[in-house]
Amino acid sequence: MDQCIFCRIIQRRLPSRIVFEDDEIVAFEDANPQAPIHTLVVPRKHLASLKDATPDDAPLLGRLFMVAAQLARERGLENQGYRTVINTGSWAGQSVFHLHLHLLGGRVFRWPPG
Ligand code: AMP
Repeated sequence: MDQCIFCRIIQRRLPSRIVFEDDEIVAFEDANPQAPIHTLVVPRKHLASLKDATPDDAPLLGRLFMVAAQLARERGLENQGYRTVINTGSWAGQSVFHLHLHLLGGRVFRWPPG
């Protein structure tokens, strides 16, 4: 996955502001933040998008959300709330084809999303 920008960040071949990492997951700050807190929670395993996940990936997907919840707790977002988003495919606005979860917080979000 030499061309994948997130694989390159995970391998530390591209600079980023990493805020969490373990053997399965890396989280780093979004380069173009859409909220005061905008962190990407990314599996080390290259899955292009959610539609490529299999039942074997279920524990990993669960961990993505648990890491997001932990980061949100550490940043004091629990009281006001926060948003977690996974864009899948072009109509949803996915632009990087390595599965990632957006953790967004620090402002009010509207519903429905645009
Ligand atoms: P999505 O549109 O859901 O695929 O989200 C991709 C996200 O990756 C966008 O919010 C981008 O701002 C972000 N992004 C793209 N390149 C980088 C990078 N090199 N470092 C950090 N975030 C990035």
